[in-house]
This record gives sequence, C-alpha cells and structure tokens, in this order.
Amino acid sequence: MGPQGAGKGTQASELQRLTGLAHVASGDVLRAAIRDETELGMQAKKYYDAGELVPDEITVGMLLEAIHKVGADRDVLLDGFPRTVAQAQALDEALGRLGERIDLVVELELPIEVAKERLSGRLLCRAHGHVYNERTQPPKTRGVCDIDGSELYQRADDYPEAIEKRLRIWERENGQLVEYYDSRGLLCRVNADRAPGEITADLVALLQGGSVVA
Ligand SMILES: [Zn+2]
Repeated sequence: MGPQGAGKGTQASELQRLTGLAHVASGDVLRAAIRDETELGMQAKKYYDAGELVPDEITVGMLLEAIHKVGADRDVLLDGFPRTVAQAQALDEALGRLGERIDLVVELELPIEVAKERLSGRLLCRAHGHVYNERTQPPKTRGVCDIDGSELYQRADDYPEAIEKRLRIWERENGQLVEYYDSRGLLCRVNADRAPGEITADLVALLQGGSVVA
C-alpha cells in the first residue's frame, strides 16, 4: 500500500527479481483479462466501457485466477489491490475459501506533499512505460528514454489539480484500510521518502522475517 508516487510498482518489480515472489498488479490483471476475453474480463469490460467502477466480486475473481496461474509453489505480491475495506473483506473471504490468507501488508509511507512533487515531475516512455522524474531521476538526454530511446511524455492525469484530487481520495480510503490491516496485526510501515535501494533492502529484510529500522 501507499500513495501514487511512493514507488509501489518499482519496489514490487525489485522484490520479484530478488525474492522470487510473483508480482500480481491489479491493473495488469484487468487489462490481460479484457485482452484475453476471459468470462470475468468480458463482464469487467462492460463496466469499464460504461465508465463505471468494476464491482469488487469481479475484480477479486480476476485476481484469484491470476494467483491460481502463478501456481501453489510461489507466494504472491499483490500491488494496487485492495484499495478499500470492502475490497479487503471480499479478498479475505475469497482467500479463506481456498485455505489461503494474507501474510503481510506493507505500507510505503510518504508525505502527501512529497508524493505530489514526485508525481508532478513524472515522465513515462512511450514504448514501455519506463518511469523518470524531471527533478529527481532525469533521463540522460532530455525527452528520451535511456533504455529504448523512445519519447518521454507526461500522463494527462499527472497535472497538479488531478494529482491533488487523486491523492485526497486515496488518503480518505487509505486511513480505513490501514486500520483494517493494523487491527489484524498484519501491517508494517516502511518510510518511502528515501532512495529506492534503501527501501528495497528494508522490504527484503521484512520478507525474510527480520526487523526493519526505518
Ligand atoms: Zn523506455
């Protein structure tokens, strides 16, 4: 968990690489289910096309299918879901029926002001969505991806007013979700206002059962 800009996607990829956890991102799962025209994907598409929120049962169903595909011998790292207490409850129930459970919830803590600043300078590459930041992580050549040479752009919803609105909505929902997992003794907080490598090191220690000094 954590606000946009806290580096959830970056950290999740690193953890997949370093620990063998399977990174299951809800956005990727939704896009893949729609692309592959699975039964749940087709249902989700109806809501998506109508500009409505995809109901939690459908999203949870798609995630369970994605988790199933990973296989029983690997643990899963969920990214981008759940976002609300209702979703967390639906996920717990569905996992419970399979004899599975959430072992650990990590909150990447980042002050809203820092998140805003990170997001407002964020640049993505057209080819693969590699992420840069004008101020904190600029590309070697202005406007060009270091990795594949494609053009860098700012997402339409990365303008100040839109960022502010998204972060405020997130803040409201997140408070309740944090409480939900904290009351179950599952929550760990990690300071995300640091270099990505330092955060990764703490996360790896956490997953290996060590304690974190952050
Ligand atoms: Zn790129």
